[in-house]
Amino acid sequence: MSRSFLSTPIEYLKGVGPQKADLLKLELKVFTYQDLIELFPFRYIDKSVVQPIKQLNFTSQNVQLRGQLTSIQVLGEGRSKRLKAILTDASGSIELVWFNHFQWLHKVIKPDAFYTVYGRVNSFNGSLSINHPEIKLYEAIDEVKGLKFEPVYPLTEKLKARFMDSKWLSQLIAQIMTHPEFHYPEYIPISVLKPLKYPSRQQAIQCMHFPKNEGEVEWAKKRIKFEEMFALAMRTEKMKAIRMMTQKGYSLPKTGELIHGFYHKHLDFELTNAQKRVIKEIRSDLVKPFPMNRLLQGDVGSGKTIVALFCMLMCVDNGMQACLMAPTEILATQHYISISDQLSDLPIRVELLTGSTSKSKRIALLNDLKSGAIQVLIGTHALIEEDVHFKQLALAIIDEQHRFGVAQRAGLWKKYPVQPHVLVMTATPIPRTLAMTIHGELDVSVIDELPKDRKPIQTLHKQEKNRSQVMAFLDKEIKKGRQVYIVYPLIEESGKLNLNDLMTGYDIVCNFFPVPKYQISILHGKMKSETKALEMKRFKDGITQILISTTVIEVGVNVPNASVMLIEDANRFGLSQLHQLRGRVGRGAEQSYCILMTKDDLNPNAKRRIDTMCASNNGFDIAQVDLELRGPGDMLGTRQSGLPEFKLLDLTTDDEVIDLAKRAAAYVLGLDPLLQSADNAGLLNYLKVKQKDDFWGQVS
Ligand code: ADP
Ligand code: MG
Repeated sequence: MSRSFLSTPIEYLKGVGPQKADLLKLELKVFTYQDLIELFPFRYIDKSVVQPIKQLNFTSQNVQLRGQLTSIQVLGEGRSKRLKAILTDASGSIELVWFNHFQWLHKVIKPDAFYTVYGRVNSFNGSLSINHPEIKLYEAIDEVKGLKFEPVYPLTEKLKARFMDSKWLSQLIAQIMTHPEFHYPEYIPISVLKPLKYPSRQQAIQCMHFPKNEGEVEWAKKRIKFEEMFALAMRTEKMKAIRMMTQKGYSLPKTGELIHGFYHKHLDFELTNAQKRVIKEIRSDLVKPFPMNRLLQGDVGSGKTIVALFCMLMCVDNGMQACLMAPTEILATQHYISISDQLSDLPIRVELLTGSTSKSKRIALLNDLKSGAIQVLIGTHALIEEDVHFKQLALAIIDEQHRFGVAQRAGLWKKYPVQPHVLVMTATPIPRTLAMTIHGELDVSVIDELPKDRKPIQTLHKQEKNRSQVMAFLDKEIKKGRQVYIVYPLIEESGKLNLNDLMTGYDIVCNFFPVPKYQISILHGKMKSETKALEMKRFKDGITQILISTTVIEVGVNVPNASVMLIEDANRFGLSQLHQLRGRVGRGAEQSYCILMTKDDLNPNAKRRIDTMCASNNGFDIAQVDLELRGPGDMLGTRQSGLPEFKLLDLTTDDEVIDLAKRAAAYVLGLDPLLQSADNAGLLNYLKVKQKDDFWGQVS
């Protein structure tokens, strides 16, 4: 009964009618009563807070003002045509400007009437204005009715032009929700709902549309975000339970001598609590007899490699093999050198396999891999070539996973009868990875803490006119015994790499730092791999003080003694690339610096990138701004990645809610795998209706 009421077509609602219904469908995707009550306000007007215009200054952000329009004019021609009005209150005046689609507004606003205006304050050459404010006739009657906290719905220009405004929508919603047949049934089991202290489903929707205050809105939002994820998590957790019953993997129950030996004798620092926690999380997967699929996420320098090493030791302790795959040869080689060094006293054979491993060496390696004589194999894509066969590969780790294509990940290990556990590591998950975690194909472990002796990297923006000052600073650091990276952008012209900038840069650097007093390494992607490895080693061993490079060093490279990262033409790099590059320094206890050099005037986008880098060291904040700056073009990429769309849940900031919902779903399914109990009847019914493809019909 209640369902049929809420699924009533919107045109049946009093005050809507066929024409307005068509607009609601077209503009807001509102087809039924239910769609309408699930259309949430995007903000609320708190009528009690109105600012005097005189108090505004350049730091003011979103403000609510009330006053009279003292002048209304259309100015300019063509593209710069705009509507300008002056809003005046008892304290002062401010300019309001609308650039396009202002025709209807021009018709309805009246001089001398009182308006409530909401918008963001701009300052230009010392004068303040608001572009495209929301504007609404002020009616004293609102205050009499006590409507202090008013919802604002996501309206389009077309709707506004027909006077279909927030107030109108609000009245329609009230009409539905006060109807005797209105019933919005609860479906989250009481055992989940109660400890969370969330409002009931009906209370939540009431608070969204007719809140008494901000607190009620927040309370409701929490619950709605939770239920958006909970419905999805019920399904992904169920699928996981099914996978666990059908897929076979290696169980690694032993914590043996290698782990203990390494931990107590060879580790020269204390693990952070975050590292200890994620090792535990991974270990609890490795003991189970089905394949792990886990993402290890941690900002640059958070120490993911050591976690990888521990996991590989767990395999070897259980008599099996492990591999570590990196996106570049430089990184693979570096991992190989440092890991074989750390394990040198232990009875483990570690080998390196890359595209430039010689043919004869390769044949021998593959033999020893097949016989099980090699326990740990480190390498590049070469690890997944067809003729590479492990005896018993229990764990495959993929480092800097964001640099690998999707195709390379799918079905990588299919050739093995028992699937290895898979751990992928990254500082910056790509949308596709994020989607996999949301859909439960990947579990997530997060290292949210840096080793404790780290000082935040100081990031500075410098220009060509500061060149000699910057070089003098590098010199000072080098004289202290530190090392320096200098990175140049590489331009790709018609498929060819242009090394001009790098080579010119090399000459400039040599002028400031003459050989033989200073030793300089150079590194770029076109060099032979032996030469690359040699140059990298000379820098790592401290023989050279300066490493001039392209972005081949972007990911993973670890030389803790290096304390300065100088990035030339920094405006030509993307944000996440800058953050990765900066992550090459600050890996030891010394104060480190990142200097961003630019030549020309910066466009606003580049300026925002540089400013963001100078203001924040946090990969997460940086990823946020990056997503914002890339804008709609890239959002398409996000959509194609299979990320679900939510009304309120934000995948990048609501990880606590996401985690909570997953745990709640696992809990419900743990107690009642087929959702047969009376407590779960509403839930099962809801899921069947919401996820229409009969998944729940088949599994329950
Ligand atoms: P990333 O997470 O970027 O891959 P790495 O694993 O390369 O970071 O670690 C960065 C540096 O920090 C390395 O030199 C590593 O030896 C060091 N390191 C890792 N964990 C710790 C720790 N708990 N305490 C001190 N140094 C650590
Ligand atoms: Mg790394």
